[in-house]
Amino acid sequence: MKVLVTDTVSEAGVGLLRKEKDLRVEVRTGLTRDELLEAVADADGMLTRSGTPLDAEVLGAAKKLRAVARAGVGVDNIDLASASRRGIVVINAPTGNTLAATEHTMAMMLSLVRKVSQAWNSLSLGEWKRSRFMGMQLSGKRLLVIGLGRIGTQVALRCRAFGMEVSAYDPYISKEKADRAGAQLLDDLAGALSLADMVTLHVPLTAETRRLLDAPALRACKRGAFLVNCARGGLVDEEAVAEGVRSGLLSGAAFDVFDGEPVRADHPLLAQDLREKVILTPHIGANTEEAQSAVAVIAASNLAAALLG
Ligand code: NAD
Repeated sequence: MKVLVTDTVSEAGVGLLRKEKDLRVEVRTGLTRDELLEAVADADGMLTRSGTPLDAEVLGAAKKLRAVARAGVGVDNIDLASASRRGIVVINAPTGNTLAATEHTMAMMLSLVRKVSQAWNSLSLGEWKRSRFMGMQLSGKRLLVIGLGRIGTQVALRCRAFGMEVSAYDPYISKEKADRAGAQLLDDLAGALSLADMVTLHVPLTAETRRLLDAPALRACKRGAFLVNCARGGLVDEEAVAEGVRSGLLSGAAFDVFDGEPVRADHPLLAQDLREKVILTPHIGANTEEAQSAVAVIAASNLAAALLG
């Protein structure tokens, strides 16, 4: 059986598949759309990350495909309805990168309020401008976690340790679960936004959560709040965030994920006048050796089990 690997996946996982004598592993990354349509035609299984669009056309071209494994959490690059119509099993590895994404969120939050990258930029230009980089202390401030799942919970616990007051908006969890994360569960998003000094998103991208923070929702934010998005592009109206930072409604924003990746050169958050208040990273939340190895091993072993029984 052919297993096609179309994104860069840790050798820890690919190696597991190579050891199976009934599987022939073909690693082909950086494919054009036409090459992808051709490569999937005889694949029995696929191992991917978020870079391969498995939409209805690609799944339709994959005549033999029985299982797709995503080395990571988000499966928004896969047309799930089309996969299930075709009887294709979709596997993800939701636990492997929780801590990596959590730690990246903390890094973004701290960099944002202490202007670490902006100060380093300035120093690297030969400047020494201490008063320009006045920061805000996290301790004593109120955090709003939107989506108190695996990553949201770990972020909440760490922010409690930083002395923050933590609230959460997540209609699908119990008060007991929020209590265990040290978070006060609020059921009105606009009300929750109006209280928070720091807002961090940890929901999946679904039809319901797309543009969860659209322009009207952003207007409900407390004046001067900071916004962090290390979950998924598409959850936020990025244009409205840029405008919010420009107008002073938001003190700053830190994004690891974007609606359309890679980010285009004229992206609203890349505007020159926002450079002092915005930090962007290229979707590296899960990029630690530990997380990549963990998600690859989980995805590959479940893929092998699905194909070989
Ligand atoms: P999870 O499934 O454990 O948690 C998601 C939480 O969101 C759940 O508690 C769910 O109840 C809640 N939720 C769903 N719909 C909601 C809504 N409309 N409003 C409020 N809450 C809602 O997921 P996770 O493992 O914590 O991952 C969270 C996000 O982080 C996902 O989008 C994932 O793709 C993303 N992620 C990004 C990176 C990265 O590289 N930046 C790495 C890992 C995960």
